[in-house]
Amino acid sequence: MTGRPRPAVAALPGYKPGRSAAAAAAEHGISDAIKMASNELPFGPLPSVAGAISAGIEYIGLYADHGASGLRAAIAASEGLDTEQVTVGAGSAGILQQLVLSYVGVGESVAMCWPSFEAYPLFAALVEANEVRVPLIDEMFDLVGLSAAIDDSTKLVFVANPNNPTGTVVSTADIATFLDTVPTSCLVVLDEAYAEFVTDNRVTDSTALLSKHPNLVITRTFSKAHGLAGLRVGYALGGPEVIGMIDRTLVPFAVNELAQRAALASIAAADEMRERVAVVVAERQRVASRLHALGWTVPDPQGNFVWLPVGDDAVALGVALEQQGVVTRAFAGVGVRVTIASEAWNDRFLAALTAVRPTPTC
Ligand SMILES: *Cc1c(COP(=O)(O)O)cnc(C)c1O
Repeated sequence: MTGRPRPAVAALPGYKPGRSAAAAAAEHGISDAIKMASNELPFGPLPSVAGAISAGIEYIGLYADHGASGLRAAIAASEGLDTEQVTVGAGSAGILQQLVLSYVGVGESVAMCWPSFEAYPLFAALVEANEVRVPLIDEMFDLVGLSAAIDDSTKLVFVANPNNPTGTVVSTADIATFLDTVPTSCLVVLDEAYAEFVTDNRVTDSTALLSKHPNLVITRTFSKAHGLAGLRVGYALGGPEVIGMIDRTLVPFAVNELAQRAALASIAAADEMRERVAVVVAERQRVASRLHALGWTVPDPQGNFVWLPVGDDAVALGVALEQQGVVTRAFAGVGVRVTIASEAWNDRFLAALTAVRPTPTC
């Protein structure tokens, strides 16, 4: 072994990204594979956002504004918060990692429901924290069980709403009740990567909870609804004290100039962003209805993806779909997550599913 890597790092499996269409096509000897594996938006950048990125090219020889002050101010204004209640990072995944680095030490605990976002356990393992996983109930976050799992050693709790990979939501009222049970010595990280896609009216603006709960941090991203995944920019909303602690672990200049400009332009084009989200939501409902009509039992999807809780059939179903040229994300022993894409791609998925599983396996 060269050097002496930390055993905790040497043992880390590393984040597994969704498979590319090209890799799947090469393996199965096909030419028209499509990727519905990473919850990306099926559109290119909005014209005004593309323009802002082009204009920023001139500045890439310079370091960007480390504090991204213009972008923070714009996010604060659009959320009705103070600038001190906002920070930005390299994707919301970057911010989640910063939160763990800033708050959790060796042997302390991080709690979450499971299955959920695969990066959470990786970040916990990175700092050699104990991981506490509470099972979902009916594919949904179990906030009562999660609350019961919190003890003195628990520094941070992840709540994904909507949850990834199941797409389910918990109500804002239930989150408020949950927050009342969590001591302020424990951070509650409410991961809202898919907030813009939610149509369930039990979910309301969670920023209203911030004033009463200084230990609440809400994370959001420009990767999903804004369609800027490749630029790596996400943000956190919280109390000024927690925001300041997150900032201490930001890699210098992590959010580059192009990302800052694109995010600013996308905020300015919020109406167009919402129109695109509405298109995805309409497709999501169409796909869910088709699945129900075909006899599949899927939880109400609230993100830009649907979840097939097929259990032990997950890996086999993922491979079978891939052989049909449809790359999805299989979670071994649990289910298959399929990103909502264009109407044509969604139809290809439905046709592939019907071809490989004429009889539903969930
Ligand atoms: C996609 C995703 C993120 C992070 O996305 P970034 O591109 O890092 O902003 C965070 N949480 C969940 C649940 C996600 O699905």
